[in-house]
This record gives sequence, C-alpha cells and structure tokens, in this order.
Amino acid sequence: MIEAERIQVLQDKPVDPDGEYVLYWMQQSQREPANPALEYAARCANKINKPLLVAFCVTADYPDANRRHFAFMLEGLAETAKRIEKRGAGFVARLGSPPDIIAELAGRAALVVCDRGYLRHQVAWRKDLASGVDKRVVQVEGDVVVPIECASDKREWAARTIRGKINDRVSDFTQTLSKTSLDVKAQALDVSGDLDLSRWQRVLDELDVDNDVAAVARFKPGTAAARAKLTRFLRSGLVGYADARNDPADPSASELSPYLHFGQISPVEISLKVQRAKGPSSTDKEAFIEELIVRRELACNFVHFTPDYDSYQCLPEWARKTLREHTSDERPTVYTRPQLEAADTDDPYWNAAMQEMTGTGYMHNYMRMYWGKKIIEWTNTPRYAYSTALYLNNKYFLDGRDPNSYANIGWLFGLHDRAWTERPIFGKTRYMNAGGLERKFDIDKYVQWANSLCDEGSGDAR
Ligand SMILES: Cc1cc2nc3c(=O)[nH]c(=O)nc-3n(C[C@H](O)[C@H](O)[C@H](O)COP(=O)(O)OP(=O)(O)OC[C@H]3O[C@@H](n4cnc5c(N)ncnc54)[C@H](O)[C@@H]3O)c2cc1C
Repeated sequence: MIEAERIQVLQDKPVDPDGEYVLYWMQQSQREPANPALEYAARCANKINKPLLVAFCVTADYPDANRRHFAFMLEGLAETAKRIEKRGAGFVARLGSPPDIIAELAGRAALVVCDRGYLRHQVAWRKDLASGVDKRVVQVEGDVVVPIECASDKREWAARTIRGKINDRVSDFTQTLSKTSLDVKAQALDVSGDLDLSRWQRVLDELDVDNDVAAVARFKPGTAAARAKLTRFLRSGLVGYADARNDPADPSASELSPYLHFGQISPVEISLKVQRAKGPSSTDKEAFIEELIVRRELACNFVHFTPDYDSYQCLPEWARKTLREHTSDERPTVYTRPQLEAADTDDPYWNAAMQEMTGTGYMHNYMRMYWGKKIIEWTNTPRYAYSTALYLNNKYFLDGRDPNSYANIGWLFGLHDRAWTERPIFGKTRYMNAGGLERKFDIDKYVQWANSLCDEGSGDAR
C-alpha cells in the first residue's frame, strides 16, 4: 500500500498519452525494494500499458561530496540498477544536473515520478524540474516513516514536542509495500545512459570529484549489505539496545545510518522488522524506534522548516545569546582546524574518535556528542566551532550531509535541547567532559578498538 499522504503532485498536467514510458527519477531513495516512488511509478506504467524507465543523475559537483561518498553511492547504485533491470524496467545513469537531464528524458515520458529529499538543493531540483517540464510530475515520499507534514506543520522545539505527534501516526505509515510486477518490459526502449554502473569503479575513477577522502572498507555499500546489517542487529544488537546504545566501548548500534542516508534501505522496512522481532523487549524496541523515527524525523522537520538549516544563525536565540556571553572566556587549549583534523590533541579519547571518523567514515553516537562538545571548548568562537564541526562531519562521515548532520551539529549548540547550569565557555548549553566517559564506560577499550580498526585499514566493525 502507498499511503495517499506520501503522494504530492508537483506539476498538475494530464498524463501524456503519446509518452513512450513512465519515468522515475531516482535520487534520494536509491533502492529497489520497499521504495514507494518506484512502486507508484510501476503501477502508473501498468495502468497506461507502458514500460518503466528509471533514471539516476550522477552530479560530480554534488554539495560537499567526495570520493568516499561517491564510492559508497555508486557501488550501491550498481546493485540497485541490476535489481531494477531484473524486474523488467529500464535503468539509465547519466552525468550532469538532474533537472536538465530529467527534463530531457521527460520529453518522451507519459509522466514523471520522483522521490523526496529534504535538503535545499534536493527541494530546488524538484521545483526546477516541475516548473521546467510540460508533463505531470508526482513526488512520492519514501525517506521517512511519517511524512513531515503529517507529523507537524511547523518547526518543532525538541523531541518532546514532536514525539506524540509522530507516534500517533506511525501505525498509519508502517504498511508492507507490495511489489508490482511490470506488464510491459522495457527491453525495447531506445534510451541510453552515459555511465555504466556495472563498472562503477571506472566511473568513480573518471569522475571529476574531490579525491582527498578515500573510500572505506568498514561499510559494504548497497541494499543487500544494509539488510545483512539489519539482520545481524535484530539477532544480536537490539536485545539490550536501550541500555547499551550509549556505550562506545561495548556498543549495540545498528550502523544503518550510511544506508539510510543514501536511501539504500527503507526506514519503514526497518521499523516493521524491529516491531516484529521476537526476543527484544518492548523497551529495547521503543528505544530504537525513538532514534530511527522520532529523532531522525525531528531532523527532517528541522531542515524542512528552517531555510538556513546549515547556518549558525538558525540556532535558538537563547543558545546563541548564552554562547555569545561566554565567547571571551579563556579556553583551556585552542587547536587549529588542521590540528583537529589530524587528531592531534592531548585528549586520547577525542583523538580515537576523530580517527574512527577519518579512517572509517563513522563514529559512535556518544562519541559524536563528546567530539562536538570538545570542538566548542577548543576553538576561539562558537561560530568557528560550528563551521568546523559541520565541515568535519560532512567531509568524513558516510552519513554526513544529511538532515541528521545539520540537526545534530545544531544540537551541540543547544538546538532541540534545554538550558543547563551556566558554566564557562558553554554558557547554558550542555557540557560534556572526559570524566563522564571514564565514569560511565571502559573508555580505554574504545580507544584500543578504534586504534586497531584504523591500523587494520578500516576493517570490519565488531
Ligand atoms: C555531533 C553529532 C553529529 C551527528 N552527525 C550525524 C550525521 O551526519 N548523520 C547521521 O545520520 N547522524 C548523525 N548523528 C546522529 C547519530 O549519532 C547517528 O545517526 C548514529 O550514531 C548512527 O549510528 P547507527 O546507525 O548505528 O545508530 P542507531 O543507534 O542504530 O540508530 C538507528 C538510526 O536512528 C537514527 N538516529 C540515531 N541517533 C540519532 C540522532 N541522535 N539523531 C537523529 N537520528 C538518529 C539514525 O538514522 C540511525 O541510523 C550525529 C550525532 C551527533 C551528536
């Protein structure tokens, strides 16, 4: 079932009876299974007895993307393309600006279907496409469980203000999505791509992208790998998640964030499998759903309702005020951005976290909080701390450049949080220190593990 609230007509034109195919422009939801936009397009194709063509545009100057991100995306797309072709749809990958390429392919289409993304450029691309083509354009949301507008019509203050609104609607949006078999196969379609994703490595080598940040071995890209991670998590990570998720030394996290970021797995599929899992307690399941749905979709709510979501200015007024009042407080140490990037500080816990990030493209959630709070302490101004944290986050994390990135970097500076006891440098924003790590966890075990992982060349996780 595709819930009606997932479907938005972006350009209200009649379906073109002369169109040769239904075109699905894949962008955010880079997967074949459990993809509402793909299934919607397949149903439209059957209804008008036409084949389905799926197109993906590779944009070499995609905002803040580097080799690490492209490698993960292209290998994942190679699997997706194969799965789509196996279903009898066509798949083309082209290099260039999505609205231009899709507008060209739309010329021969009966209608265009696209998925939904929440970042500024993703929204602008869809707007440009809809205003630039003389065809019906329909957007189908597949990136969140509860479509943003169904949860709230405004920017929410915190998890506590959106939790009830989301939880009230979760059961309405966690239906199994059946696959539509295609009546008309696409073999006869005469449309070609200019990138052969079955040779994704060659495509990557030939792309004019920032090659400074290497691909990582820790996360195998693609839907099959995402599902394997989910299966492993359901078997051995979800039991005890509520207590253990915060412990970087003995973590029970799913490590699904890179796959969610690239749309290689559906959040609805994850939710359904978690809800149906036998063994984990309802406390563990609820704790996981809180992260996967409430926190993740609070981040989407934030970017959707905050046009300048990537600027210091968008942070809450109380937080900027208190940080401003403490800008001239003496810092215990000040590190330059290159020193931070090189994990060259006097704090072994922080250095280990930074190495996990640069070497493997991921960091445990609790360490992300500590990592970011320390950047505030070790830089001259909160504004510079903000831009440094966002820069490093988006450069190295596989899950960076995501609504979660902007909401969580914002959280370091008081977004979605409350005021705490006032103290130097941080003012009333939350403070974290190494003593907390030592008191709560076997933090030396984390340091050893992170170092060994990086020494092994980003080998597989625990
Ligand atoms: C400073 C800082 C920066 C962060 N940057 C990013 C980022 O760039 N991209 C990103 O996806 N997440 C980011 N997070 C949120 C969180 O740390 C990661 O989503 C999580 O660690 C990913 O690991 P996991 O998939 O094993 O999480 P799990 O614990 O298994 O959780 C499952 C899913 O829930 C979601 N989730 C978990 N924690 C959060 C959270 N705090 N906020 C929103 N969604 C959450 C994620 O989609 C995650 O994959 C950041 C957190 C902080 C404090």
